[in-house]
Amino acid sequence: MIEIAPETACMLYVGGVLILLLITWLRHSHTAKRRTNVRLTSVHTKCEYCSSSYLVESYTQFHRCPHCKCMNSSSRQDP
Ligand SMILES: [Zn+2]
Repeated sequence: MIEIAPETACMLYVGGVLILLLITWLRHSHTAKRRTNVRLTSVHTKCEYCSSSYLVESYTQFHRCPHCKCMNSSSRQDP
């Protein structure tokens, strides 16, 4: 069995807690940044069939019009 001094055990405990806090903070900041990027990539699109306008995420190739429920592709997008 490995014997360590109480001071060493305390230092290991504090170091472990700090590493866990750092990992949690990095994951939280990465998730918040990704949400912001997804929100910024929404594009204004016009339906090919009923000509109504709506917002879609730019990473989706096909999307459904909320008014007429028809499928549209991302090739026709308004600026
Ligand atoms: Zn439509």
